[in-house]
Amino acid sequence: MIPIAQPLVGQEEADAAGAVIRSGWLTQGPQVAAFEAEFAAYVGAPFACAVSNCTTALHLALLAADVGPGDEVVTVSHTFIASANAIRQCGATPVFVDIEAGGYNIDPDAMAAAITPRTKAVLVVHQMGMPCDLATILPVARARGIAVIEDAACAAGSEIALDGAWARIGKPQGDVVAFSFHPRKVLTVGDGGMLTTANPEWDAKFRLWRQHGMSVPDTLRHGSARVIFEGYPVQGFNYRMTDVQAAIGREQLKRLPGIVERRRALADRYAALLAGIAGVTSPAEPGWARSNWQSYCVALDPAIDQQAVMQRMLDAGVASRRGIMCIHLEDAHADVALPHDLSRSELARDHSVLLPLFAQMDDATQDAVVAAFADAVAAERPRQRLTA
Ligand SMILES: *Cc1c(COP(=O)(O)O)cnc(C)c1O
Repeated sequence: MIPIAQPLVGQEEADAAGAVIRSGWLTQGPQVAAFEAEFAAYVGAPFACAVSNCTTALHLALLAADVGPGDEVVTVSHTFIASANAIRQCGATPVFVDIEAGGYNIDPDAMAAAITPRTKAVLVVHQMGMPCDLATILPVARARGIAVIEDAACAAGSEIALDGAWARIGKPQGDVVAFSFHPRKVLTVGDGGMLTTANPEWDAKFRLWRQHGMSVPDTLRHGSARVIFEGYPVQGFNYRMTDVQAAIGREQLKRLPGIVERRRALADRYAALLAGIAGVTSPAEPGWARSNWQSYCVALDPAIDQQAVMQRMLDAGVASRRGIMCIHLEDAHADVALPHDLSRSELARDHSVLLPLFAQMDDATQDAVVAAFADAVAAERPRQRLTA
């Protein structure tokens, strides 16, 4: 069976986790601090704050942007459900807009048109690792005084060219960037998240909130020669990352450039191999983007039955997934008003397929995936009607 994804973790991660366990300091301590510093340096961010996962990261990002009841946050429906869950956790309302033509990211024009006097923030997603069009999005938001929160859950290692210079996703272009380190993402620590920002006040808030609103972190109290009592100036959360996770993350960060290089080579190979198959369209990469290809999403001609193609592939021993979900079609958010057209999002969900892509995949395995996919598509492609 060829899986859809496979984390690249090994002895280095196991050794790093073991060393933390033997050290006696298990949660949010020196390893978290080191991981934050190394991650900030890697993406080019002034501040990085580690948290328990990307959903909690998004929650804190929205709180820092002062998003609360009565506020609107413009975002996509075509994303993982956590994006909307975080907005609703703040008591705010997600305003879903469609994705762009020919891609899977937010349509900047639809975003601009959805902004109202109640809009507090836009939550834009670098979907499947592909950077969204920040060059168009940022001026719109700045002109309206609206915070830009980047959901970079999938985008560790991706790059974007802005004003002619390449930057890693995570260098704050908007106000704050949120990452996920779930095993389905490109860099994993099991579960974990990171917030990067250039705003020192926001970074300080994240650090307070992630640890119960505690004024003095326990690392400081332990290291102090004098007795210190902590205070709780604000109501916080427990969104800590453990030192075991952070130690794994530091090893993953070393691997990341190699992982991304291999994923990009595999994506290039996919594009070449799929070019000859009628009825399928490979994902496009704009000239200003370098994706980490967290997922490789292929569009099918709508006349081809998506589920039947996936079943044929499964029968042939190849896993696949359907395109990205649409939050507005899930019962959990059925009460959200839908003033904007979402037809491209629905089309993408129902007529695209994610193909296996992971750094350990060799060329022969990828060839086998393409062969199974080509056979499945050929079998499900409607026969050309013969005309006399
Ligand atoms: C995975 C994902 C999340 C959630 O990340 P967790 O770390 O699992 O909380 C949020 N947004 C997007 C776009 C994702 O793909």
